[in-house]
Amino acid sequence: MCANPVTMALVLLLMAKWLMEEILDKINSQHILRHRAQIPSGFEQFIDLPTYQKSVDYTLTKAAFSSLCDTLNLGFSVIIIFFGLLPWLFGIFTSIFGPQIVGQAAVLLCVKVTLSLVFLPFSWWRQFRLEESFGFNRSTQAIFWTDKIKEIVLTFALCLPIVSAIIYLFQTFPDTWWILGWAALAIFQMLMVVIYPPLILPIFNKLTPLPDGELKDRLIALAQAVDFPVNKIYTMDSSKRSTHSNAFFIGLGKFRHIVLYDTLIQQMSAEEIAAVVAHEIGHHKYKHIRTVLIIESIFTLLGFRILHYLSGTEWFLSSFGFAAWHMNSPVPLILVFLIAIPGITFWIEPFFKYLSRRHEYAADRFAAAALGGGESLISGLRKLHRENLSNLTPHPIFAAFYYSHPTLLDREMALKK
Ligand SMILES: [Zn+2]
Repeated sequence: MCANPVTMALVLLLMAKWLMEEILDKINSQHILRHRAQIPSGFEQFIDLPTYQKSVDYTLTKAAFSSLCDTLNLGFSVIIIFFGLLPWLFGIFTSIFGPQIVGQAAVLLCVKVTLSLVFLPFSWWRQFRLEESFGFNRSTQAIFWTDKIKEIVLTFALCLPIVSAIIYLFQTFPDTWWILGWAALAIFQMLMVVIYPPLILPIFNKLTPLPDGELKDRLIALAQAVDFPVNKIYTMDSSKRSTHSNAFFIGLGKFRHIVLYDTLIQQMSAEEIAAVVAHEIGHHKYKHIRTVLIIESIFTLLGFRILHYLSGTEWFLSSFGFAAWHMNSPVPLILVFLIAIPGITFWIEPFFKYLSRRHEYAADRFAAAALGGGESLISGLRKLHRENLSNLTPHPIFAAFYYSHPTLLDREMALKK
């Protein structure tokens, strides 16, 4: 048993997060339920009562499920911490892969994957029970399981080099490794942005060039009108997994592509899709993604600095049951950090959500300006909300805490201004 002030403090931190999650879920569910009998005013034309009530039920079912997952996650973390599961797994995998740099990187990834397997049944249940019962699931057992295997193989293929690099820096530059490691991670993330479209996306989805026609012409005209060169426009076969819909950009500079979910094309008119794409262009024009990445990287640097401080102490890791010889490797520290970090980031997340909602408003304004009015964006957003059964009446505190996008009502009000 590893029950001491350090592990107790960590458990308290994780319990505070869990308690807040439960409170937020509760007030939100009650709020939504109170509004279930009637369609929110102004939305009567685009959604009928059965569909609206289905969206309420979908939200409530998801909330109950995530509350269950949060509780199990807390229980599992407490078991990991108090019963010294990390040193035990670390010992097992180190005896297999050895204490060398690449071996230790493999140990880190193996422990991480092993712990994540616990949540695999929940991921399965979400897809084939929850999503299925609301008509969103299109995935098959074969797709689901090959996805999981691909994800694990990719985790090793992509993370082994970067984790090895960080371990090497830790052992070679004991005083400055945290800055060098942070820089290595930042470079790795930039590299991922570049290699994701050509190398990783095709492993999961098939991209097909958008056929000539009204939609393609409209999107090319839009891109030219707002001076935003795109290389190619693709449709993605997302309908093989789910009927949820979306659109996004991949790549950088002149290698930039627009990717439309095939489900989006089925659900929307060309003008509405143009509005959704214009909104995405707005994000790029205002450099929203870069802004968020820069702010996040400041927090990452802070995280590395804390790791550096803790790596100089013995009390911290021994509190979690690690032996002195374990501390030659940074892996034990990273493992503890990965368990602890959600207890801290949870409280920072609302700031990022707030920033994200500001960005959404700005991108909406950009789209409205580009299209000479907000009408097609509004009708596009309404369809997105209806088809995805998005919740129309979240509790304001819940939305402030979790929502990366303003509610439909708020976006419409802002667009009509
Ligand atoms: Zn957006």
